[in-house]
Amino acid sequence: MKRATLYLLLMLAGCASPRTVQEPHAGAAKPAGVLVNVLRKGEGWTADFRFDRAAPAWVFVRSPITPDGGSWRPQSWTIETPGVRLERRGRYDLLVAADGGPMPRRVRIRFRPYGGTVATSYDPALIFSDGSVALFSEQFDAFPLSSADAAGALPADLNRAGVPDSRTRVRFREAGGAVLHAGRRVGSVTVDDDSGSYVLFGPAKPIVSDAMAAVIDPQLPAWIRATLQRSVPEMLGRYAAVLGPPPGPKPTVMVSWAGPTKGTASMSGSVLPGFIAMRYEGEGIQTESPRGREFGLWFIAHEAAHFWLGQAVRYGSPYESWITEGGADLLAVRMVPQVHAGYDVRSKLQTELDDCVKLSAGRGIAKAIERNELRAHYACGVVFALVAEAASGGSFSKFVQRLISEKGTDGEVTRAEWLALLDESSKDPSISRDIGRLLDHGATDPKAAILSLFARASVRHSVSPEGALRML
Ligand SMILES: [Zn+2]
Repeated sequence: MKRATLYLLLMLAGCASPRTVQEPHAGAAKPAGVLVNVLRKGEGWTADFRFDRAAPAWVFVRSPITPDGGSWRPQSWTIETPGVRLERRGRYDLLVAADGGPMPRRVRIRFRPYGGTVATSYDPALIFSDGSVALFSEQFDAFPLSSADAAGALPADLNRAGVPDSRTRVRFREAGGAVLHAGRRVGSVTVDDDSGSYVLFGPAKPIVSDAMAAVIDPQLPAWIRATLQRSVPEMLGRYAAVLGPPPGPKPTVMVSWAGPTKGTASMSGSVLPGFIAMRYEGEGIQTESPRGREFGLWFIAHEAAHFWLGQAVRYGSPYESWITEGGADLLAVRMVPQVHAGYDVRSKLQTELDDCVKLSAGRGIAKAIERNELRAHYACGVVFALVAEAASGGSFSKFVQRLISEKGTDGEVTRAEWLALLDESSKDPSISRDIGRLLDHGATDPKAAILSLFARASVRHSVSPEGALRML
């Protein structure tokens, strides 16, 4: 029973697929904006911000919350510059002048890398047990605001909000050492806000093979290490065989181990172009168990699927992350049985279905991210992916392949494009219309709504005499 609870937590840990919040501005160079110098000196870390203008507030583009619902920055950052304060307004962290006036142009922050997980974004730091630390570059990206109050009105979807034209450049350096970036060890590296990535400090060395470069925590439980080394290349190969070559360079995989924390079993991950970050934690996964093994394979399959559904084609806005999260979930559910006999596909899909029913009762799925019900995008995303799979002759990879090949020049698939492709496959526009209703409003009786979708699309299911909707 306890173990079942632990693994439920695992499923909620979630992950982030790639998304550049501020799109590259083609042609025109962005104004100077923010320059940040990040330095590790011995055990100490500093970030020196230099702002190009006297704004009343600077807001951090990446302001995800921790699983407790709070901001991670106050747990990690100490502001050394007098008269400057870190505040949370709406969905964002910001720096403001304590007296309400303009912010100083130079601000020094001392920090302890935050090694916990965050929701719907990249973990700010991956902390390895040999003292190595990988920092996510975009945690320092900021843009100016006309007032601190303006942050309260910023939507989750910054792309559509017209953020001020401002760029952030971050220079990473280790005193007396080198950092590792994009597979190379360099004295220092400057990363622009158009290309978020992890920069590795410390002694960890990548293990380079034909399929990938891997930085794996030396304390990571041996069974997880073995699974990763075997399954990542195998799954990437199998996906490539049906979906085409993954975009970008040979992937780098960074895997950290946060220790055997009591009462915990957690795997979380995120994907950036050519990069997978994974974080494992807890006594519940220290030794191999059948459940842990299956979940571990499913987790790797989900993250690897994001190289295609998430990178080869991206969603248009965070309200559409059901396309990539539900899609990666279903690709993973179809992948695991190919590498591990006996995987219980039916019970995994049943969990997704049951969760979708719960999370769409009387509320729209698209805006679940605003209610901190991210799970809705995974669970209902799978339900919709099952519909697309059935409409595509039983092959979800065929549907994904078309999403990729018909993505257009922006590299994105929007909800409208996804539904239009479903119409082409199903020849029944009432299906996409009803998915649209679930996305916007949910349903008073979600089970009946999903049953009707499954019936029209011919998704294999049954209804028990008590009326329970069952996957077959
Ligand atoms: Zn994901």
